[in-house]
Amino acid sequence: MLVVRASAKITGSHLERVAVVYLRQSSPRQVRENFRSTERQYALAEEAARLGWESERIVVVDGDLGISGRFSDAQARKGYAQLVARVCVGEVGAILGLEVSRLARSNAETQRLLEFCALTDTLVIDTHGVYDLKDFNDRLLLGLKGQMSEAELHMITSRLQGAKRAAAERGELRFPLPVGYVHDQEGETIIDPDQEVQAALRDLFAAFVQTGSAYGVVGAFKGRRFPKRAYGGAWAGEVRWGELTHPRVLAVLSNACYAGAYVFGRYRSRRTVRPDGTITTTVTELPRPEWPVVIHDHHQGYISWEQYLANEQRLRANDTRGGQRPAREGGALCQGIVRCGSCGRSMCTRYQHAGGYYECTHSRADHIATPGCRSVKTTVVDELVVRRLLDALAPQEIALALAAADEVADRRARSTRAVELRVERARYEAIRAERAFHACEPENRLVARSLETRWEQKLRELAEAEAELAAQNKPVSEPSREQLEALARELPKLWAAASTAQRDRKRLLRAMIADITITSKPTGAELQVGIRWRSGATEQHTVERPQTRQEVIRTPAEAIELTRRLAATHSNAQIAEQLNAAGLEAGTGGSFKAEHVQWIRWRHKIPYPASYAHGDEVTVHQVAERFSISDGTVYAWIETGKLTARRGPANRLYIPFPPQVERQCRRLVTNSVHLPTETKIRSAGGAV
Ligand SMILES: [Zn+2]
Repeated sequence: MLVVRASAKITGSHLERVAVVYLRQSSPRQVRENFRSTERQYALAEEAARLGWESERIVVVDGDLGISGRFSDAQARKGYAQLVARVCVGEVGAILGLEVSRLARSNAETQRLLEFCALTDTLVIDTHGVYDLKDFNDRLLLGLKGQMSEAELHMITSRLQGAKRAAAERGELRFPLPVGYVHDQEGETIIDPDQEVQAALRDLFAAFVQTGSAYGVVGAFKGRRFPKRAYGGAWAGEVRWGELTHPRVLAVLSNACYAGAYVFGRYRSRRTVRPDGTITTTVTELPRPEWPVVIHDHHQGYISWEQYLANEQRLRANDTRGGQRPAREGGALCQGIVRCGSCGRSMCTRYQHAGGYYECTHSRADHIATPGCRSVKTTVVDELVVRRLLDALAPQEIALALAAADEVADRRARSTRAVELRVERARYEAIRAERAFHACEPENRLVARSLETRWEQKLRELAEAEAELAAQNKPVSEPSREQLEALARELPKLWAAASTAQRDRKRLLRAMIADITITSKPTGAELQVGIRWRSGATEQHTVERPQTRQEVIRTPAEAIELTRRLAATHSNAQIAEQLNAAGLEAGTGGSFKAEHVQWIRWRHKIPYPASYAHGDEVTVHQVAERFSISDGTVYAWIETGKLTARRGPANRLYIPFPPQVERQCRRLVTNSVHLPTETKIRSAGGAV
């Protein structure tokens, strides 16, 4: 038991105030398992009473039990904050703790608390004695103790870490194993002898190879259960069965243990200081090359290390957040593998109305687009690429079909095997339950009844499993090898079939073609399409862009030329007549009208004859320029009758502009509430 020497340092002033017993344990596990220490801490309250404090003046602060002082922020440790606050207001006569150095998270924090204690004449009492912080010797002693405890902690931690690391380097440090593995009696890692668990894991890896995505694996396991092992808690170490989720698939695929490797140090915790001074710990996963210990062939793997690396690469290719572009459902076949030959960046796909375009969205967003970065209709590129792909596939058609046939048979066999194993297990459990029931003493009715219920339950499970197996074994109409060969020969038709998913077409395409580079010149319809095959071969094709609508309905060059010649002397209607007389046709078909000529003038910047403006007439734009206002304002004045205008032969407005009209306009500008003040002052100043 504790023995604290009663000391002359405790005075009446201390006894009048409260004695705080401050309890702290580092982790929930310590609280659970190291209860002796907790008991000793509670005994301190009795010690305080023995030293003279009345029982109602003894306070136990145990809010921090189970909260680590090193790794949690001050917010979480309310008990400690409460202690400091009470010391500061002078409420506390003494603080009792098992070890003074363990009051706070760090030596610096302890020193600060001790300083407050000195200022408020608060005693500190631990198992070794009573310390008065106003006394220099006591202060020195506590300071030394604090530093020594910190040094001790450091030594212990580094020694433990060193031993742990050395054990890990030998591959002997034991971790909880992932489902599918168990430790044998000698402590070696072996594959779980449970056949059903093994089958589930093998099927998971096979399903990933087949579907190519973690979501695909989840789909393949729909309606089928997957084992998991609980860590800690009531179910610790037990295998339980549940649904397979996407995060679980990712966890299994990225766990090197399944490739037979022993890995230590995948995760590293790092402490960071937030702007408000609190400290948090974050755990980050290290990239594979930085793992400190990797021992290959440590135990038997479900997959090879090469397969593990391939899976990892596959997962990375599916990671859109990491900038990858897996095959999507959209119509553009080359989505994700098209590059711009001009800027070198990958091109995005934009769908508009019925068609799509490949365009340099990335480089445009980063303002590094070049004049050669032109968008291309997807059909132009896709038609060429598909033609080349089907040509290339022709000699391989039979081999492909046969591989597909083998895969289908294999998948069915595996799926059946899983159900067979379930039946076997259910039968075994039913027999066991039956045996237990028969072995039970007939007098012990309660036990017999519960065993009977269990037996019935097991029989029901067996019946369910057998029914499932029967359903699995029902013959299904599978295509014969001959049918498949015929189908393979018709790959082009199959490719075009409506039932073929676009995503599958893209996957096939990507299996053969690594990437496609599109190079355009800044102008012109010529387009270079480069195809790089997975085999390493490359080829270059030249295709023509289709004409744009503007190009299709383009006005003949002769018509533009004639308009330019007649422009200065003829009205639009007159020019239209001349064009029709010359036997020319408008771009949209049919004869020319005045509007067509108006469009040609605007499009090709052909001026109207100056003579159209009579005498002192000016155009709308000229008025706007003179008063620094917009054309729109002038149009508004004309519409509301504030200004008179004449509509000329080319549908243009001409404003007679004698001095009195100019003065009137200036008044309008000065009085307008809509115009900005700056304009008003400027035009008013001009009038002076
Ligand atoms: Zn580009």
